[in-house]
Amino acid sequence: MRKIGILGGGQLGRMLLQAAVNYPVETFVMEKEEDCPAAHLCHHFVKGDFRDFQDVYNFGKGLDAITIEIESVNEDALEKLENEGVKIYPKPSTLRTIKNKIKQKEFYAKNEIPSPAFVVTKDLEELKSSEEFIPAVHKIALGGYDGRGVKIIRGKSDLEKGFDAPAVLEKLVVISKEIAQIIAINDKFEAAIYPPVEMVFDSNLNLLDYQISPADLPERILWKAEAIALKVARSLGSPGIFAVELFVDKQNEVYVNETAPRVHNSGHHTIEANFSSQFDMLWRIMLGYPLGNTDHILPAAIVNLLGAAGSSGPAQYDGLTEILQMDNVFVHLYGKKETRGGRKMGHATILSTDKSDLIHKAHRIKNAISIVGSKS
Ligand code: ADP
Repeated sequence: MRKIGILGGGQLGRMLLQAAVNYPVETFVMEKEEDCPAAHLCHHFVKGDFRDFQDVYNFGKGLDAITIEIESVNEDALEKLENEGVKIYPKPSTLRTIKNKIKQKEFYAKNEIPSPAFVVTKDLEELKSSEEFIPAVHKIALGGYDGRGVKIIRGKSDLEKGFDAPAVLEKLVVISKEIAQIIAINDKFEAAIYPPVEMVFDSNLNLLDYQISPADLPERILWKAEAIALKVARSLGSPGIFAVELFVDKQNEVYVNETAPRVHNSGHHTIEANFSSQFDMLWRIMLGYPLGNTDHILPAAIVNLLGAAGSSGPAQYDGLTEILQMDNVFVHLYGKKETRGGRKMGHATILSTDKSDLIHKAHRIKNAISIVGSKS
């Protein structure tokens, strides 16, 4: 039986392992926290730091393949393992391109992939001298996620709020819609693309509010988005699962925002809504089986279940019974012991042929559930 490891033990690892039980595979997870969401679902849990060279190398030595659920892993160790014959999904060279926003933006430019124009700023001083480029968005090169590495610079006074670290300053797009395309690439570089997902954001939290698949856009724009996303995934030169986030502007131009080289929040609905989920698909790729069918069974929406603002401590799920009573709603709790404001604690997927039903239920779910901690 193949031995496959996952670096990171959060919800993505957890959902990957839920799909792994259908296949002949021995699973390994490495994570610092022993009570992380994926720990009890794998065959072998290894306590360790996925940022540390030695920990990652020791973890990977005896494995056939490794995948990641987070970009901030030690890619030097992965590169050494790759040279010694361990298959890495995505390839460490691709991970290097993506995990640094400067390199990622340079990759789009080099491959003539439409993405907002940008300049590189090495520190706050350099940002302050880039006034002619605003309105723009300042994005830290390394370590930003869930909106924390992004600052909107609308006017001169916002320049102070930028990052005093290497970053890109990207032209502000007047966004009409944000969409995401999940793409699977196997070892033979065959591709399969999931129907597009439309993302609707909560402007306060800067975290995804709810999303709908398939996206409601004219076919011409969807084709453009699909072609661009496929070009991104193919140009990256690695098998794996890729989530390409795109903007559609008011002129119906499509731009790449960013790409994740792994299973992604924008593909969680594929568990119930598509014939082969993004998680199932990654096992097919890593185990050398045929790509699965990405078609949707029914249109879907996802609501992230977030920790209530201003509350932390051991999680309590108020209103869970109410959402479990709703038809065609599938609840996933990630098993995180502690909640805090805005933390992703779970998600709910809604299936329906009727878009207004999806939106209505998404709002009902958001209003019904409250995840609070006992220390509130
Ligand atoms: P993260 O990876 O932290 O989620 P993103 O790069 O996806 O960061 O940016 C977060 C959000 O900021 C996007 O979803 C979008 O709403 C907004 N944003 C990012 N880049 C731009 C841009 N160039 N123009 C306008 N809005 C942007």
